[in-house]
Amino acid sequence: MPVPARYRARRCCLAPNRFTLAAVQPEIRFRVPGWVDETVGWDRIYSTDDERAALAIELARRNVTKRTGGPFGAAVFESGTGRVVSAGINLVVPANNSSLHAEVVAFMLAQAKLGSYSLAGTEGRRYEVVTSCEPCAMCLGATLWSGVQRIVCCATGDDARDLAFDEGPVFPESWSYLEDRGIEVVRGIRGREARAVMETYRELDGVIYNAT
Ligand SMILES: [Zn+2]
Repeated sequence: MPVPARYRARRCCLAPNRFTLAAVQPEIRFRVPGWVDETVGWDRIYSTDDERAALAIELARRNVTKRTGGPFGAAVFESGTGRVVSAGINLVVPANNSSLHAEVVAFMLAQAKLGSYSLAGTEGRRYEVVTSCEPCAMCLGATLWSGVQRIVCCATGDDARDLAFDEGPVFPESWSYLEDRGIEVVRGIRGREARAVMETYRELDGVIYNAT
């Protein structure tokens, strides 16, 4: 069957080498760069919050130095064993996708890996996210819907705002809401180190990609 004309890309008569927008939507895919897998100790036991935070920050740092995205990293861990389930980095600019914050990337990869839309403790396991910076409004919501039962943060939302990243509507009540839903919140682990990664990003003239 021929493709209806309205679905075909058409050449623009004013600029023949350019196409007008076709009435079909693209398939969305993303893949983290190979260095992410190499950064994670997949067989390693990350016993403490400090060790887990160090990984999240290292992901953020390498994302900056390798110029593969914004200054944020996150990882999902199996809380009891300390094993890494997934590792995410900020891919907003390279993927042209405002939703691909490090936490969201980590949740997507963990859920795909485990074959479940929820990380809410299948077979007695509990999961947690460790992020190099306190989440923005979107990622705070994604944390709730991901099913993780613990969140550990490094730099603060104020650190991000100082460096011109908009965190959106995150209020003290937002944190309370998570805690009331049974999510343990730990903040301020290796905070200075995580902030320094954001400062490096700014010094390297990294794109600050807020909504406005
Ligand atoms: Zn976010």
